[in-house]
Amino acid sequence: MKKESKKPANGKDRKPEPAEKPAVKSPFSKPEVESFRLWLIARRSALSGNVTKMEDEALRRSRQDASGDLSSMPIHMADMGSDTFEQDFTLGLIENEEQELGAIEDAMERIEEGTFGVCEECSKPIPKERMKAIPHAALCLECKKKEEGEG
Ligand SMILES: [Zn+2]
Repeated sequence: MKKESKKPANGKDRKPEPAEKPAVKSPFSKPEVESFRLWLIARRSALSGNVTKMEDEALRRSRQDASGDLSSMPIHMADMGSDTFEQDFTLGLIENEEQELGAIEDAMERIEEGTFGVCEECSKPIPKERMKAIPHAALCLECKKKEEGEG
């Protein structure tokens, strides 16, 4: 009685690999990943709140500059210089926060894929201590160092 299968020879209805298993598995348990996920969500909303507020202020200031409002034009070059510096500094902060936001989005995707806590470079599990310090870390410390050394 071994004739139970009448599948066509091309095997189109047979899947060679189960699709639900990711190639690399997260080294963290479900509750652990969940707590990281909650942390990332909280961090994301805190950051996006900051970015909006700071962008607002920086943009308002540059609009004021562009409007050529003579009454508020700084007279001394030194003042102008410090104004520019301050604005650059503010925009620099936004850039960093947007980078962090991007990293958080990536981390959330890895949680969805079940590869959270796995190094994107060498596919080894990232130590728990590192993930606790930087929950959106995509690389293990070794790969991060390598990246920074080369960049
Ligand atoms: Zn690595």
